[in-house]
Amino acid sequence: MTTRTKFIDNLAFAKKNDHLIDELLLVDCPRLNDFLHHFSLMSTPNMLPSGLIHYELLGETDAAGRPFLHLTLAANLITICQRCLNEMPLKFALNFKYLIGEVGDFDLMAPEGDGSDDYDMQQVSSNMDIVALVEDEIIMAMPIAPTHEQLCGEIVSQSGGEPNPFAILKGLIKP
Ligand SMILES: [Zn+2]
Repeated sequence: MTTRTKFIDNLAFAKKNDHLIDELLLVDCPRLNDFLHHFSLMSTPNMLPSGLIHYELLGETDAAGRPFLHLTLAANLITICQRCLNEMPLKFALNFKYLIGEVGDFDLMAPEGDGSDDYDMQQVSSNMDIVALVEDEIIMAMPIAPTHEQLCGEIVSQSGGEPNPFAILKGLIKP
């Protein structure tokens, strides 16, 4: 297993309107992998989650000359449903916008009423780690306790096995 890294000069990338499309295997994202893996410890300790993350990075300078990065993520991951402990697919389609600047500049660069909630800040860096950024964004987007949105198929539809609690009560009431 190798950790893949991809570094960019984020300010130059934005100013050149540069463009990058790539994909990551989950095995290249050890932190995200650990994060997904802990959901599966209860049922199948040796199962590694599988998945692929597509990402696209686009540099842009806006009309005011401010450097931005746009990040688009699409991922299909497998995690474990916390209700039925079966595999559960997780789909992500995420968009991010970052303003590149020095920390001290950010107040000046984000005038009030500018819709500045629409983007996050990223410190100017000549070696910004894109893989780490992609990983961070997916980790932050992960549900804390993922469960199937619909009913948990097999578990819900099969009602055998467990004794009916009312049947037990009946037995107790009987003389
Ligand atoms: Zn479930």
